[in-house]
Amino acid sequence: MDVTRRDFLHQGIGTVSVLGFSLLKMPGMQQVCEAADAKKVAEIPVVWMANGSCSGCSVSLLNSASPSIQEALLAEVIPGMHLSLGFHATVMAAAGDLAMEAMNKLVAENKGKYVLVVDGATATKDDGLYCAVGEVDGKPITGYQHVRDLGRDAMAVLSVGACAAFGGIPAADPNPTGAVSVMELLKREGIETPVVNIPGCPPHPDWIVGTIATILLGDGDLQALKLDEHGRPAPFFTPLIHDNCPYRGHFDNSDFAEHFGEHGCLVKLGCKGPITHADCPLRKWNNGTSWCVEAGHPCIGCCEPEFPYDKSMFTPVEPAQMTFPGIYPPAAIEHQGPDKGTYAAVGAVGAAGFLAGVGITAAAKKLKSEQDAEGSGTGSEA
Ligand code: SF4
Ligand code: SF4
Repeated sequence: MDVTRRDFLHQGIGTVSVLGFSLLKMPGMQQVCEAADAKKVAEIPVVWMANGSCSGCSVSLLNSASPSIQEALLAEVIPGMHLSLGFHATVMAAAGDLAMEAMNKLVAENKGKYVLVVDGATATKDDGLYCAVGEVDGKPITGYQHVRDLGRDAMAVLSVGACAAFGGIPAADPNPTGAVSVMELLKREGIETPVVNIPGCPPHPDWIVGTIATILLGDGDLQALKLDEHGRPAPFFTPLIHDNCPYRGHFDNSDFAEHFGEHGCLVKLGCKGPITHADCPLRKWNNGTSWCVEAGHPCIGCCEPEFPYDKSMFTPVEPAQMTFPGIYPPAAIEHQGPDKGTYAAVGAVGAAGFLAGVGITAAAKKLKSEQDAEGSGTGSEA
């Protein structure tokens, strides 16, 4: 679907209303639009559905810093391609029949060409009646119906946030509404539209915008995303939090904080860093300001399928996935024929690795024996 930049900015709903003011009234914007009219930009329609959620995922996206949400929606995410947020119940100005009609029109005109974004888990019990997202002739349309029908005709579905990706908090025991993830719902319905999981509570805005940009770069081909075993884009969700944490040295030295506010590794206060894969310590949050552990709170493991776990989030985990920190240099030998210096270097790296391994094992053992001595741990069970 090709539209001019002017058409885009004049839409009654969607991106302009996201910003809450008329962009055409900004100084210089009129001239920018005149110039932009000269070229055509491919519009990628995006429909954002909120189901059983807290809207935190939307708020996180609106905090996108690089690009800003204005840039993401008004500029070309990649050259020649532009996102058109055609429906987003939380931020759009239109409501009721007008909004639903606009969405139905957009979907009907773009079968197989739009991206469906879902945040929140989907209630399935009692035909999904615990979550209504609109009405037709006075009868509720359930989130279940919407995800099923819009998911069937989408180019791809992005499950944004822990709840859409893995069920999250709405699906936690005892799960009274029968909440499920998007992937599970589509599987039950026999729908094969590709699904990308972008977990997190909430997900980092870079994870959302970066994933969409990669899909556009691949012209809808999800191969470029390199999804991991849980359907997450691997570049964002491969690093182990624990390997990149500034407290890793404290962990290796068995220097643990016993109470909130104390300095030291937070594993005894329930930190899930040793079992959580995400790049938070490297990327940081709020435009690179800080992240959970740096702010003094344990990582709660919000990017893993098991989140929110079956115990209190402050129950310590056993660090089962011990790996060496990624910052250790690899033992690469680049020249032919090892000489004395190489033997010495390899020996030094090997010794460092051995000592680090001993330290890690000792820290893990010390923690384990302390946990055993304390019984079931310091946290209360849910
Ligand atoms: S357990 Fe948590 S606080 Fe301690 S080093 Fe690992 S990630 Fe950091
Ligand atoms: S540090 Fe842990 S709890 Fe915090 S956002 Fe990252 S994965 Fe989630």
